[in-house]
Amino acid sequence: MQEKNLVKIKDLFVEYKTNKGILGGKQTIHAVNGVSLDIHKGEILAIAGESGCGKSTLAKALIKLEPAKSGEILVNGKDILQLNKNDLKEFRKHAQMVFQNPYASLNPKMKILDILKEPLEINTNFSKEKIEEIVKEKIKLVGLDETCLQLFPHEFSGGQRQRIAIARALVLNPEFILADEPVSALDVSIQAQVINLLKELKEKYNLTIVLITHDMSVIQYLADRVAIMYLGEIVESGKTSDIFASPLHPYTKALLSSVPQINKSGKKIILKGDLPSPASLPQGCKFHTRCPNVMEKCKSCIPEEKGISHKVKCFLYD
Ligand code: SF4
Repeated sequence: MQEKNLVKIKDLFVEYKTNKGILGGKQTIHAVNGVSLDIHKGEILAIAGESGCGKSTLAKALIKLEPAKSGEILVNGKDILQLNKNDLKEFRKHAQMVFQNPYASLNPKMKILDILKEPLEINTNFSKEKIEEIVKEKIKLVGLDETCLQLFPHEFSGGQRQRIAIARALVLNPEFILADEPVSALDVSIQAQVINLLKELKEKYNLTIVLITHDMSVIQYLADRVAIMYLGEIVESGKTSDIFASPLHPYTKALLSSVPQINKSGKKIILKGDLPSPASLPQGCKFHTRCPNVMEKCKSCIPEEKGISHKVKCFLYD
């Protein structure tokens, strides 16, 4: 069956300036470098990679929290990079974000009722009664009781706060949710509850979720498809089951080898060096400075994306 594309990203570049620190002056961070990716309706797509690989910037660019330098982001066929202020406000109702830290993302001075009402009061003309009805429905949807609505964020555990953050993301009935490391700030013992909640929301309500994470075991459990990012590029993408069964890119192989539950052979691939700075990208294949399979041409030529069982950017598959 042909999947329906909800979002189509075409050749997207995002860069921004930062201070050079003690050296003074500004430097350009090349955070997203020519990403093309489809997001299908009703799927969980994971974007994975080390810290600093550009995955969070890509997620923010998807809802225009980060401006793109060039490219297209087509949502239901409409390029969101070209939207005016009013259209953008309308679009934001359909794309909501769940942040990593539920301790920082909920206003400590507001009752949960007011936190959940706020997006509806700003973005709709619904009556007071209708707004309360929606809020009660969504709090139940994330497995919490109506009595929670009269409490403040500090009265909840981390897992409960993340449920509340998810309920807030749901009140406007968005078409897709971007979840940026949604469980990494939580105790391991409660991570599974939030992961299961996301899975249930996707399965019961056909919600589309873009999951930003470095945690390969969360991806294996939750994601339908996965895109592996390195220095702002997607180096491998496809169905999670295909990629976990037979990873092609040397970077993906290294990422998967570091997870004991996935790597049954016990042979860990240790990459040399650190992730290069996105302020000075390597020539050729961006992974060549750390790749265990590097060849001479990798240092100067850029590999094209090829479709084998899934998509990969690497000269080993020419
Ligand atoms: Fe390694 Fe070369 Fe493939 Fe890049 S293109 S991942 S350097 S083998």
